[in-house]
Amino acid sequence: MRLSRFFMPILKENPKEAEIVSHRLMLRAGMIRQQSQGIYSWLPLGKKVLDKVNNIIRDEQNRAGAIELSMPTLQSAELWQESGRYDAYGKEMLRIKDRQDRPMLYGPTNEEMVTDIFRSSVKSYKDLPLNLYHIQLKFRDEIRPRFGTMRSREFMMKDAYSFDLTREGAEHSYNKMFAAYLRTFDRLGLRAIPMRADTGPIGGNLSHEFIILADTGESEVFCHKDFVGFDIPGENTDFDSVEGLKAIFDKWTSLYAATSEMHDEAAFNAVPEGERLSARGIEVGHIFYFGTKYSEPMGAKVQGPDGKEHFVHMGSYGIGPTRLVPAIIEASHDDNGIIWPASVAPFDVVVINMKAGDQACDDTCELIYAALSKAGKDVLYDDTDDRAGTKFATADLIGVPFQIIAGPRAVANGEVEVKDRKTGARETMTIEAAINRFVA
Ligand code: ATP
Ligand code: MG
Repeated sequence: MRLSRFFMPILKENPKEAEIVSHRLMLRAGMIRQQSQGIYSWLPLGKKVLDKVNNIIRDEQNRAGAIELSMPTLQSAELWQESGRYDAYGKEMLRIKDRQDRPMLYGPTNEEMVTDIFRSSVKSYKDLPLNLYHIQLKFRDEIRPRFGTMRSREFMMKDAYSFDLTREGAEHSYNKMFAAYLRTFDRLGLRAIPMRADTGPIGGNLSHEFIILADTGESEVFCHKDFVGFDIPGENTDFDSVEGLKAIFDKWTSLYAATSEMHDEAAFNAVPEGERLSARGIEVGHIFYFGTKYSEPMGAKVQGPDGKEHFVHMGSYGIGPTRLVPAIIEASHDDNGIIWPASVAPFDVVVINMKAGDQACDDTCELIYAALSKAGKDVLYDDTDDRAGTKFATADLIGVPFQIIAGPRAVANGEVEVKDRKTGARETMTIEAAINRFVA
């Protein structure tokens, strides 16, 4: 992508409305724009990161055996009257009427709708287990939307829903998502700790929140500090192994970890003092097992091997991609801007032409840009006529992991500089070596 033809409206000034660093950097880097309170457009740079986050989430959901579908944002109130949540949900639910005066709502979550899909076509235990997910916008009329897309009113969620014949089956489904979440957050460059959690309006009896430690987090959390070093389940994890996944779950729940709502002071004090971690955290995922809470009132049942009808045991599993993007920035930035983990960086590398219009600089940059693009790299080429200083500041701000810098002096020697955004280390090398560094 040539920067001169891209749309990346960089802000020079610090936006006053931004209280935390991720919100400030997302606005300054031209990733998002607020359209009304708590409702955002994702501009091209932000959209690229969000897509990469969603693709990692999708990849790990698929690996764990979940199946993607797409459900609408607008839902009929009738379904929610069946479960009893239409009245229970309160003011966070945006309620609307269509032209026939029928009550509708903008979905804050999808338990009812997915249960309706399930009951309309699944009749036998032989079709279980089943886990259906989508990545879709949600709306919750939050009382205090803030921190940009960290807590917005319209936001994206990956929400998965599992269906099993028995409680034991449902626990295995829960453990699959538990392991998939550990892998997902790790691939996003984050250390998320599963903590015992309250089930809230979703209801149920088994629940964990996945929390990233960050000073700007809204939750107060308490955990054993060994979680920071625990191993993440590998790529070869067998998601069909009941014992294998149970072992992962047991390990990751063997030490104390709880959010303030579930905090047990006495149990926490039993952890040796030097091993206690009391911190602030950002909730990036939340999983629930809630048994037959929806299947009973909504009549979602299957025929079991005993020939009788059984209400299915369900769970739901949420991750917030539009919250994860700022959470990643909270975890990875410096005074100059964002430092993206390679897995979600909007570009793999940025080529900086320090003197656009200078024939040798232009030729060198075009050559590198073409070679890297041809090799399948996602390259941003800063071909604008901004000053070199402005280009360096922009490249640092938007956090692309590597910069290839072409200035007249180096280029005259057939060389360029390669800068690592994270460490700041710069290395001078031949043009060919710079290309090979990224294509090899
Ligand atoms: P919170 O406690 O932060 O309000 P929640 O417990 O109501 O969140 P869940 O119903 O568990 O949220 O939703 C699953 C995930 O969706 C959350 O873990 C979070 O990542 C994301 N999410 C929820 N609400 C918002 C929001 N207002 N803005 C952005 N992401 C959100
Ligand atoms: Mg939650």
